[in-house]
Amino acid sequence: MDGPDYDTREGIACYLKDGLPGLHRLAKHRAAAWREREERMGLWTIMGLWVADETGGFFQIAPDCRPDPAWQEIPPVMDKAETARVLSRLSWGGGAGRHPLPPLDDMCPQCLEGWSMRNAGDLDWGSEEPRRAYHAQCLAYRRHEDGLARFRSLFMEAGYRDAALRAIPNLYGSGPWTGPWFLAETAEIGLVRVGWRKSVIEIDWSKGRAGDRLSLFAGEEITKEATLVHAYGYEKAADYLRRLRLAVAGEPAPEDRVEGGPAEAVALASALVASASQARDKAVDIGRRADAHLLLARKNLEEARVLGEVAARNLEEARVLIARSDERCAEANAMNDETKRLRDLMRKAIVDGDRAALEKLFGDALARDDSHKRIDDDEQLS
Ligand SMILES: [Zn+2]
Repeated sequence: MDGPDYDTREGIACYLKDGLPGLHRLAKHRAAAWREREERMGLWTIMGLWVADETGGFFQIAPDCRPDPAWQEIPPVMDKAETARVLSRLSWGGGAGRHPLPPLDDMCPQCLEGWSMRNAGDLDWGSEEPRRAYHAQCLAYRRHEDGLARFRSLFMEAGYRDAALRAIPNLYGSGPWTGPWFLAETAEIGLVRVGWRKSVIEIDWSKGRAGDRLSLFAGEEITKEATLVHAYGYEKAADYLRRLRLAVAGEPAPEDRVEGGPAEAVALASALVASASQARDKAVDIGRRADAHLLLARKNLEEARVLGEVAARNLEEARVLIARSDERCAEANAMNDETKRLRDLMRKAIVDGDRAALEKLFGDALARDDSHKRIDDDEQLS
């Protein structure tokens, strides 16, 4: 079938030969064809991982919609009809407008591996701004770690001495937060389950020792049950967990206390703890980014060093060749002088009519020529 390279099976296969950079180029050329010339193109599925659509769009196929068996076993480039046969339903994992290909000049922030065709399909986007590309499993680990750190400090802010947290499956699942939930074992109120559920943190102490505490949250306009409450964000969650702790300890909740008393100091202290822990989280994140950049810089430096060595070697070779050609030049000059001298002697012999001298000179010249030929042959052999 005829058409521009970015819209034929053979042409697209050619782009793929260049690996991830080729794939980036293909996406760019197709986007430009639509944007600049409103060129309608064919729909193609590439490596079973991406779909290039008719209007210059380029999407990653969501993992649960990818063809089975594994993508290695299906043709690298499939047209629309083949795509319809292999993929039962097509859905875009990347979301509209988001470039679905991992960047060429970045690395996965968790494992610090760069991106190539080999791992480009195993891609998920983190929720931090600007958004960065992770391996799907790396993102799961990162969310686990981040969630663990954040919820651990939540219990500290609420005044728990040392809550032991373990990750458990996210029981809500479908919200924007796909990280784990946590089961905290506290000395103060026993087991508490905490986790994000859409825009709220669900706190469930039904397996703990706090019992029915519905009355603690009487004034709050939120979902609440005898042993469960929803909190809008970490600050509220810390407040609710603190109320539970104080209630079990037999102390009045902070809002019942006289203003300006110890309650205010406790509130102030926990606000300070909260902002300190936020600052710490930020510092940890900055540290991670710096590590990633350092690693990239080291890699570039190493590459530059290797290139420098190659250049130095080439320079040295060039020097040897120049020296050798200088030698050959001197040799040629010497031969030239010798030839001139013989020519002059021959001319003189001819003018003098000295036949014997002329024959001797010819003999010398032939012998010399032979010896030079031998030298040339030797050089060609070596
Ligand atoms: Zn990774």
